Amino acid sequence: MSSTTHTAAKTVLISGASVAGPALALWLHRYGFTPTVVERAPELRPGGYKVDIRGTAIEVCRRMGILDEIRANSTDMRGGSYVDDHGRTIGELPADIFGGRVEEDDELMRGDLARILYDRTRADVEYLFDDSIAALDEYTEDGGGVTVTFESGTVRRFDLVVGADGLHSHTRRLVFGEESRFKRHLGAYISIFTAPNHLGLDRWETYHALPGKLVCVYSSAGETDAKNLFVFSSPEELPYHHRDITAQRRHLTEAFTGGGWEIPRLLGHAADADDLYFDSIALIEMDRWSKGRVVLLGDAAHCSSPASGQGTGLALTGAYVLAGELARAGGDHRVAFERYEAHMRPGVKRNQKMAEGFVKEMTVGSKWKIKLRMLMVRTLPKTPWKNLIAKKIRDEIQAAANAVPLVDYAAPTAPGPTAGTTARPTVAA
Ligand SMILES: Cc1cc2nc3c(=O)[nH]c(=O)nc-3n(C[C@H](O)[C@H](O)[C@H](O)COP(=O)(O)OP(=O)(O)OC[C@H]3O[C@@H](n4cnc5c(N)ncnc54)[C@H](O)[C@@H]3O)c2cc1C
Repeated sequence: MSSTTHTAAKTVLISGASVAGPALALWLHRYGFTPTVVERAPELRPGGYKVDIRGTAIEVCRRMGILDEIRANSTDMRGGSYVDDHGRTIGELPADIFGGRVEEDDELMRGDLARILYDRTRADVEYLFDDSIAALDEYTEDGGGVTVTFESGTVRRFDLVVGADGLHSHTRRLVFGEESRFKRHLGAYISIFTAPNHLGLDRWETYHALPGKLVCVYSSAGETDAKNLFVFSSPEELPYHHRDITAQRRHLTEAFTGGGWEIPRLLGHAADADDLYFDSIALIEMDRWSKGRVVLLGDAAHCSSPASGQGTGLALTGAYVLAGELARAGGDHRVAFERYEAHMRPGVKRNQKMAEGFVKEMTVGSKWKIKLRMLMVRTLPKTPWKNLIAKKIRDEIQAAANAVPLVDYAAPTAPGPTAGTTARPTVAA
């Protein structure tokens, strides 16, 4: 077959069943493709941290038909406070100032979002848990495709493969090379885990800042437990493997040993937590997100880090755009992958840039800077310019959340709810 002829892609293997993977599967099924999702974990991974859905991603969720369910699972946070070494409240801020939120923004636990997406797709999409891609070989005969060898030993052929397997994407490593070529450490680490809610928080986050470090405990709607979150600056990357939990606990403990407030007790819970997350706050920056019949999606392609607060939105929007472009191009992946990338890139860049600024805000470096910050926290709610400052933060976040414009793709032909009116500016496909 000549390289210019094209056979429409139909079968798509997606690696990763968190946010980007199931969202893509939902859209692909609606457009008449046959998606299969492979997930390394033995079952859908529950829990996690709270994630925001803003701007373009809200409309994407409405079109997926999951917005009401997302809202029913809202964290419903009321606000937060900063406390000093003795646990005394320095100042309280409402949710709109704290998170730069506008009324229509949504926030829910990552695990709840993954479950909503999984429940919406499980009847129509093949899910393979407890397995992973071991090898990928592109072939050209019979119109072309990819031979996939799974860890389980199964060998299957697919027209396309999508890596939606996160910051440490295995698909990316197999096809594009070592992670170190694409990952940029932003100089800080983040850790979060579930622990007893001994502070009795109710939809509230409590922060404590130390030089170069930040601790936050929060409890969201419907949760009996709390989440303990730690951020600390570390210009150099720490030596450990991303699956070595023991080393991660050690690094976390070392970073916060000697800290006041509730820190010793909070750290104590890290030892028992079975969902401890610990990772570098990092960006993934790549020149290309596709190679042949393999394409990357979500954090695997362009992680914007937890500091941006936009990774989930970008993953959802990217899934919508990739599926829409594949449908629009009649399954011609060469055209679709180009358009998907061209459409997503400027918005991704903007969000990654925002993350770089926010990391520095999360880990204020010196005692006097913290004092200044606390003075602001204490006085801001009482000042007449409170709304101006809140607006400035909100405007920056909202601009980033709307940085990928919404495209109207042709209505899918396959079954499934396709809500469709839009109140936001759209770009005609
Ligand atoms: C602490 C923290 C706070 C965050 N806060 C926010 C926030 O407020 N707002 C926001 O928008 N985003 C936030 N994020 C980022 C957000 O979680 C990610 O951007 C989003 O989950 C990306 O989705 P994804 O599906 O691309 O990747 P992931 O959610 O990372 O999912 C990847 C999936 O691939 C699976 N996988 C991995 N390797 C393999 C393999 N070899 N084979 C098969 N499957 C594999 C994993 O098990 C996982 O299910 C936060 C992240 C963290 C860590």
